[in-house]
Amino acid sequence: MQQAMRKDLSISNRVGSDAITGSELTDAERARILAKSALFSPPPTQLPDGRRELVGLSRDELKAELDAIGEQPFRAKQLWHWIYHRGETDFARMSSISRNLQQNLAERFVIGRPETAAAQASADQTRKFLFRFRDGQEVETVYIPDPEEDRGAVCLSSQVGCTLSCRFCHTGTQRLVRNLSAGEIVGQFMAVRDAYGEWPSPTGDTPRLLSTIVLMGMGEPLYNYTNVAKAMTIVMDGEGIGLSRRRITLSTSGVVPMMDRCGAELGVNLAVSLHAVHNDLRDELVPLNRKYPIEELIAACRRYPGASNARRITFEYVMLRGVNDSPADARALVRLIAGIPAKVNLIPFNPWPGSRFEPSRPATLRQFADIVMNAGYAAPVRTPRGRDILAACGQLRTESKRTEAKQTESRSRAS
Ligand code: SAH
Ligand code: SF4
Repeated sequence: MQQAMRKDLSISNRVGSDAITGSELTDAERARILAKSALFSPPPTQLPDGRRELVGLSRDELKAELDAIGEQPFRAKQLWHWIYHRGETDFARMSSISRNLQQNLAERFVIGRPETAAAQASADQTRKFLFRFRDGQEVETVYIPDPEEDRGAVCLSSQVGCTLSCRFCHTGTQRLVRNLSAGEIVGQFMAVRDAYGEWPSPTGDTPRLLSTIVLMGMGEPLYNYTNVAKAMTIVMDGEGIGLSRRRITLSTSGVVPMMDRCGAELGVNLAVSLHAVHNDLRDELVPLNRKYPIEELIAACRRYPGASNARRITFEYVMLRGVNDSPADARALVRLIAGIPAKVNLIPFNPWPGSRFEPSRPATLRQFADIVMNAGYAAPVRTPRGRDILAACGQLRTESKRTEAKQTESRSRAS
């Protein structure tokens, strides 16, 4: 049966004419991606009563807002400090700002948070939040505490749903509803911070409970690059949240043209969802491969700025029983990434309702990991976290769209 599945999955659907070559990775291709992304723009950040959301504005935009009401640029610096360093949401508590101005600001602006529609805790302390935005759309965000130390990773979503449909991913079964705004992306982090009471933002060497950000939640971050980049610029600002780019990892399924831009502009750590070492299988598992095949993807990794032994690229590899987990796959993997400062994260497949794969057997996993390690790469097997609350990698999906999927399911059963 496993052989049958491997065979079934390796049927190639390559659309040859769609595959682009290195020389065609031009600004035009990036412009096309950004234009398409703009079709899924988030709603305006203005409330029905006319007040504007301040979370998610760049420093320059914040200055412009204040300038428009006749305030000096230093006020923007003050506000930035209150919003992102202190985590304050109430203008009336901003003690360095006069009563008059506090009132003025409160009439025109808000400092919001997504609404916490639900929060669940796993037996392993992982916490999953369902955040609802002003238009009613929802995403999931996960906090994964380090089991040994007082630190942890916040897994942020970048889109409601996903345009891509990787076969093993729950989010991939939810069509893309829209992109998240910069404010909604930073807002997830700030709302988790609220939940853990970690304000003001720790500075310097002070330990942080929310110590890293992984853009590994719902959505493909490089298909919402503009908002993700703006959000990360806010998060990295030293006078606010102040998380360094070394503590941020962006995971992509392989949007090659945007990987270059992300490296040049943001310089955050890169994780690449590889999952297969041959194009025919990767075409099936990660359909984006038909557009940006493995050779393009690996070339983009080789030129990713700052990749060094200290800043390695992470290759994510979900271990699917009988599909991509043979010793031959492991050997092909190390040949493929030869020379790239890299580590390989082996992710045991996390099942979700209706998923058709099985996790690799532990012995197979160990054998695979040994081959990769013997070739000189770190190959940690990622312990699944929060599986009991569907909070592990690839299990996120929001309820709002589940009803629709159920209807489709029953329609197709009926036909
Ligand atoms: N869209 C981005 C980031 C979100 S997914 C990307 O695809 O990279 C984060 C990671 O979880 C990716 O490596 C993804 O391939 C992996 N993943 C998806 N579904 C999974 C599942 N069911 N079990 C384990 N990992 C999964
Ligand atoms: Fe989208 Fe990533 Fe899931 Fe693929 S793995 S469907 S790109 S969220």
